[in-house]
Amino acid sequence: MTPDTLARLKAAAGAKGFSEDPAEIAPHLEEWRSKYKGRSPLLLKPATTAEVSAILAICNETRTAVVPQGGNTGLVGAQIPFDGEVLLSLMRMNAIRALDSAAHALTVEAGVVLAAAQQAASEAGFLFPLSLAAEGSATIGGNLSTNAGGVNVLRYGMARDLTLGLEVVLADGRVLDLLRTLRKDNTGYDLKQLFIGAEGTLGIITAAALKLFPKPAHWATAFIAVDSPAAAVALLGRLQAETGGLVSAFELMPRIGIELVTAHIPGTRDPLAQPSPWYLLAEAAGGKRTDLRGAFEDALAAGVRDAVLAQNEAQRKALWDLRENMSEAQKREGASIKHDVSVPVSAIPEFLDEATAAVLAALPGARPVSFGHLGDGNIHFNFSAPKGGDAQAFLARWEEIQRLVHDIVHRFGGSISAEHGIGVQKRDQLPRYKSAAELDLMRTLKRTLDPNNILNPGKVVSV
Ligand SMILES: Cc1cc2nc3c(=O)[nH]c(=O)nc-3n(C[C@H](O)[C@H](O)[C@H](O)COP(=O)(O)OP(=O)(O)OC[C@H]3O[C@@H](n4cnc5c(N)ncnc54)[C@H](O)[C@@H]3O)c2cc1C
Repeated sequence: MTPDTLARLKAAAGAKGFSEDPAEIAPHLEEWRSKYKGRSPLLLKPATTAEVSAILAICNETRTAVVPQGGNTGLVGAQIPFDGEVLLSLMRMNAIRALDSAAHALTVEAGVVLAAAQQAASEAGFLFPLSLAAEGSATIGGNLSTNAGGVNVLRYGMARDLTLGLEVVLADGRVLDLLRTLRKDNTGYDLKQLFIGAEGTLGIITAAALKLFPKPAHWATAFIAVDSPAAAVALLGRLQAETGGLVSAFELMPRIGIELVTAHIPGTRDPLAQPSPWYLLAEAAGGKRTDLRGAFEDALAAGVRDAVLAQNEAQRKALWDLRENMSEAQKREGASIKHDVSVPVSAIPEFLDEATAAVLAALPGARPVSFGHLGDGNIHFNFSAPKGGDAQAFLARWEEIQRLVHDIVHRFGGSISAEHGIGVQKRDQLPRYKSAAELDLMRTLKRTLDPNNILNPGKVVSV
């Protein structure tokens, strides 16, 4: 970057809108698992859409690469500047712009933290159902750019399904105002969808209009012991039938996962007396007159080992703590090889059997910790290193094991990235699993929207 470009970018971001201080930039250069580390000479922190627009116009003119970043909780290295790119943090764009009760719509800026968006909805008597363990740090801009999933997809859909409109700054600085709150709008291509899940490679999201839902009057939340993933899939069908499709979360956890959480996370405990090979956290939400507890009791009457239904909010939170801390507990346990994959729900039992056996044959002693959003067919198919084993030697096998697992996923008609995205982690794997026509179209879109390749270059797809 020339001194002139640097000076222009700093001026465009305003006096409070930039930092060259290595100590301030450092936390933005490393992600949560410390798997990826980057470098950048300049952190830009615009506070308005106009500032983002001015910054991108300069970057485009001077061919300066820029990496957008929200809460830096992404898990595929997409928010990290690996090559000295300028970092563009949206965190100062954190205003709640509007809440339209009648339209069930919440309009927020990209840097609003997910938990703050949930809170704003809740204070007005609504539910914004996107929910994930990183919600205290992740931002709406990051959520939409990764098309985040989380624990309520079964009932409410992914981030894409929760978006009514977007405001996006294009690579050349033009502002694309798609910030509508319409439920019906068939006026040609649905352009906002291009930017959702694009991981910052096609434009910078500066604001979003989000769908709100009625705040449930009550929940039924159960922690359930089952013999097998097949029993879990059967139970999902029964719960959906008994509740009339009101199940919002259906999370699978293995015995070792509960052991890791209760060992590493203070204040957590196994609520059941006897150990079980598999557990579920199931939740349904409904209005005042819906008898969810009765529906759960009927569905749980057969085919389960044991179960406990939360009696109050504190118990509900304690059950959720077991699920929400699974990633953290696995991190504290030491090295792990992880996959974020999906297959059709019906194929989960067979997939788990086959893929687990294949990994254990290649990595004897590895400890399977497969958990996740069973209701969406999305398993975090993870393996912790053998106890007392060589962590580095274990991690050195990551690529090889991932290839083995992804080939099996592909054979089951699944996806190698269910909700975390592609970033740099899976970019070079795409040609193995996507058709030439699909990849060609992705590259064409990238070249069309970002002809100078300044937006998060090298992420998702190489051009
Ligand atoms: C403990 C833990 C649990 C998690 N659980 C889940 C889960 O259940 N489901 C799930 O889907 N994810 C999960 N994640 C992953 C992560 O939280 C999500 O990907 C989240 O949506 C990222 O938001 P962020 O603001 O941190 O984005 P960042 O990490 O900062 O960025 C992610 C991507 O979005 C781009 N980006 C960020 N802001 C913008 C913007 N305004 N415009 C354009 N591009 C932008 C970045 O360049 C990058 O490509 C989890 C992460 C952790 C650490």
